[in-house]
Amino acid sequence: MPPESIVMAKKSVSRSVHTETLEAISAELMGCRSCKLCNGRKNIVIGEGNPKAELVFAGEGPGEQEDIQGRPFVGKAGQLLDKMIGAIGLTREDVFICNVVKCRPPGNRNPEPDEIEACSPFLIRQLDIIKPKIVVALGKFAAQTLLKTEERISQIRGRFFDYRSVKLIPTFHPAYLLRNPEAKREVWQDLQLVAKELGLQVSKSGAKQ
Ligand code: URA
Repeated sequence: MPPESIVMAKKSVSRSVHTETLEAISAELMGCRSCKLCNGRKNIVIGEGNPKAELVFAGEGPGEQEDIQGRPFVGKAGQLLDKMIGAIGLTREDVFICNVVKCRPPGNRNPEPDEIEACSPFLIRQLDIIKPKIVVALGKFAAQTLLKTEERISQIRGRFFDYRSVKLIPTFHPAYLLRNPEAKREVWQDLQLVAKELGLQVSKSGAKQ
């Protein structure tokens, strides 16, 4: 029979294996130099919101405003995301918002494969901790990265996929909607599926009943 101190030590080891926290991920990301995006960034945009959210929105990567403020989706696309969230009767505080890459690609170019490879494990770990009911993958990069597919966003949007036992629905990115407002109709259909799955009451026009 081992002394009690050894039993306690073993317990704390096994507990720490299973209790990764969002704070630990934030701490690990501080000063991250795992990819070349670290060279131009002002801030690392880790993500924010309810750590126990049932609904997570995952975007692509920070833009100019996000880089300056260190917060996700606070620019023009973010204002539209706020409206999308409001349309199903929720607020930013109810959900968690994060990105595939945590540092701004220069000039808002697309994140490159080596950058996605270096950074996406942080997103995956964030989702594993939060364990939401639903992940909305905003745009091609979030959808393709999490689903490990090269299918076009227009082919995969609007239906639920299994992502590590969480329901994941790809939809168009709000920045795409700013350029193509006619696609808002499809995004609204996708959000209605999300609302139904979460048992949220929304009217066809989007206002809370
Ligand atoms: N676009 C994204 O994909 N993420 C942000 O945080 C802002 C704009």
